[in-house]
Amino acid sequence: MHDYHYYYEKIRPLVPIIERQLAAQFQHVESVAQLNTAKVLAAFRHQKVADLHLQSSTGYGYDDVGRESLDMAWAEIFGADKALVRPHFVSGTHAIATALFGILRPGDELIAATGTPYDTLTQVIGYAVPTAGSLCDYGIRYQEIPMGPNGVDITRLRQAMHHDTRMVLIQRSRGYSLRPALSVAAIGEICQVVKAINPACVVLVDNCYGEFVDTKEPTALGADLVAGSLIKNPGGGLAPAGGYIAGQGDLVEKAAARLTAPGLGSHMGAMMGDKRLLFQGLFLAPHTVGQAVKGALFTARLFEQLGFTAVPRSTAARHDIIQALVMGSAKAMTIFCRSLQRHSPVNAHVTPIAAPMPGYEDKIIMAGGTFVQGSSIELSADGPIRPPYAVYWQGALCYEHAVLAAVGTAADLLAAGLGYETTKRSTVGGGV
Ligand SMILES: *Cc1c(COP(=O)(O)O)cnc(C)c1O
Repeated sequence: MHDYHYYYEKIRPLVPIIERQLAAQFQHVESVAQLNTAKVLAAFRHQKVADLHLQSSTGYGYDDVGRESLDMAWAEIFGADKALVRPHFVSGTHAIATALFGILRPGDELIAATGTPYDTLTQVIGYAVPTAGSLCDYGIRYQEIPMGPNGVDITRLRQAMHHDTRMVLIQRSRGYSLRPALSVAAIGEICQVVKAINPACVVLVDNCYGEFVDTKEPTALGADLVAGSLIKNPGGGLAPAGGYIAGQGDLVEKAAARLTAPGLGSHMGAMMGDKRLLFQGLFLAPHTVGQAVKGALFTARLFEQLGFTAVPRSTAARHDIIQALVMGSAKAMTIFCRSLQRHSPVNAHVTPIAAPMPGYEDKIIMAGGTFVQGSSIELSADGPIRPPYAVYWQGALCYEHAVLAAVGTAADLLAAGLGYETTKRSTVGGGV
């Protein structure tokens, strides 16, 4: 067995080879980024985005024209009537919860069509574990439909829907699971099924990690609402905090009444920080997402060559920015995350340790030496310490960082005797 430097030098020459193998996929990613950038430019031009819009506001935040133009540009880009883009959302979970509580009333039913929702939403729903202030605590009924092998189980969804099913929740990205992310086209088809059964049923899409991976957002193909985080894709790595909701005007306004108060809705809320970072982040988001997707493709390919299972595979179409890598053991997860941390621009000297996190049931190990705390459009990896011991790699403000970090973590794993050395195909540790 050799050390990190030995393996690093062994792996480096694979970089141009892998890049040649991925050339067609990279070209596709770049064309998506270009189309989405064109949409952003057009929306900014239509809104006459100007210096004045980039400044902060105070107090009640009445007549904040920058806040209004950001909402309207966002709505145009997302193919929605209205958007609520706010630093006042503390996270993506808060934005999704605001959409759920804004629409659902006691006695209504919510159906999760993509299986158990993302970890932090389990307490928002309060189904598995009774939770004070959760949807179930407010008398909202809940059903969950496990995903089938080919995506959403449409037959079971049809059977499950009642006349009082008020909302169907769809999660676009894989989250902390190995199920595939949904394409926007597939989400559009589910919307059609739901609307054919009950046109009044609201389709809410948890859009986290999906924004700008495709050339359309779910709201352009029939979803009533989407919600997500500004420290993921659509903040472009610059937004310092926040979340968004976009969709049908009346529904977004109902959610706004929950974010602020009935009667206040979307018309108030000082934007105390620099709004430049929200506009500039949105402007950069299509490009940044492209960098992250290219980094994910590269990492999948490299780790496949070391004998690990990459989900999705390096040859598969991408519908979110997440790259799961099955490490096969808690030890390999830990080495991976510690190594990634060492290859980060901030807090590279810090050692990640698995620990409980608010909103999550299992211990989580996280690597993320990010400029914005917890940002996952910046390169980061994390995962719950539970079988199959997968790490979820996501983000990268620039492709170069993803490549360097992938090569470095691979070298650390090989130096620990985990994974195959491609040239030898011999040692196996936690690799699957
Ligand atoms: C990140 C994420 C969320 C929300 O997470 P926050 O950390 O609260 O922003 C919700 N759903 C999915 C699928 C996610 O990836």
